[in-house]
Amino acid sequence: MVRASRPLSSNSELNPDTFTAFKISSVEQLTEDTYQYKFELPGNSSLGLSLGQHIVLRGMVNGLEVQRAYTPVSPVNAEGYFEVLIKCYKAGLMSQYIKSWIEGDTVFWRGPFGGFPYSPNQYGELLMLASGTGTAPMLPILQYITENEDDETFITLVGCFRTFENIYLKPLLQDQSRYWNVRTCYVLSQESSLEKLPWSYQENTHTGHITENLIKKMINSCRRKPFVLICGSVAFNEDMTRCLKAIGLKEDSYFVF
Ligand SMILES: Cc1cc2nc3c(=O)[nH]c(=O)nc-3n(C[C@H](O)[C@H](O)[C@H](O)COP(=O)(O)OP(=O)(O)OC[C@H]3O[C@@H](n4cnc5c(N)ncnc54)[C@H](O)[C@@H]3O)c2cc1C
Repeated sequence: MVRASRPLSSNSELNPDTFTAFKISSVEQLTEDTYQYKFELPGNSSLGLSLGQHIVLRGMVNGLEVQRAYTPVSPVNAEGYFEVLIKCYKAGLMSQYIKSWIEGDTVFWRGPFGGFPYSPNQYGELLMLASGTGTAPMLPILQYITENEDDETFITLVGCFRTFENIYLKPLLQDQSRYWNVRTCYVLSQESSLEKLPWSYQENTHTGHITENLIKKMINSCRRKPFVLICGSVAFNEDMTRCLKAIGLKEDSYFVF
């Protein structure tokens, strides 16, 4: 995505048409190629996103302006900061720029865009099928529901990663899975056995790839009729959509980010 330069906004409010500067307050490496970046917001302000919305980053790479979308993982009501989870690809243009970031750097974002329209108790259960950084839009939704005592939506989060080490934000996911209405499970494509995993993960983890059969099992074990959320690579999204259609789900029963 390479576009002509856009004007920079001088205020600190996020805007879809102009870029706003945000300062990086911390950088944390989560896996060999994925980093969590925290950005400062003035005072106790929040970014003002609604659920599932993403923002667009501007980078200059080899003299070219590059723009890419990223979905904050912090709760939508987080005050004074927001966080993004970014996987850096060796051959990726924006990835090269992002890898150079250090605490204190200023980078430019615009937005918000997209989103998943949601109101509390709208669905009996949400079945989240997420692969890698596709967990990003799921996390604010998960926290929005668990923070609201009046929202009794059940949630099943299925996180697909290569290995146990590649599961992002384990402490947050473990905390969330302690809520009465949340269950998490993992599908690890490059683990051959569950034996070396911590005991607490063995029961809810599968090895290999997520299959139509596994999705069917997940749907059948949902406590209420699920609405399915899908987020991952284009190939993952297509594969999950194909599986859901084969199982007999109608298009109004799922949402692809
Ligand atoms: C709405 C939306 C939200 C997004 N949110 C996030 C997010 O929260 N976190 C995040 O990390 N990314 C997210 N992405 C992906 C992100 O926008 C970029 O596509 C990604 O960072 C790669 O950009 P790049 O310029 O580094 O790579 P590019 O220069 O675009 O790609 C170069 C090469 O990198 C590799 N590559 C790039 N993307 C992929 C991929 N998905 N799978 C496998 N190989 C790939 C390939 O080898 C490719 O040929 C989101 C995308 C969209 C559309």
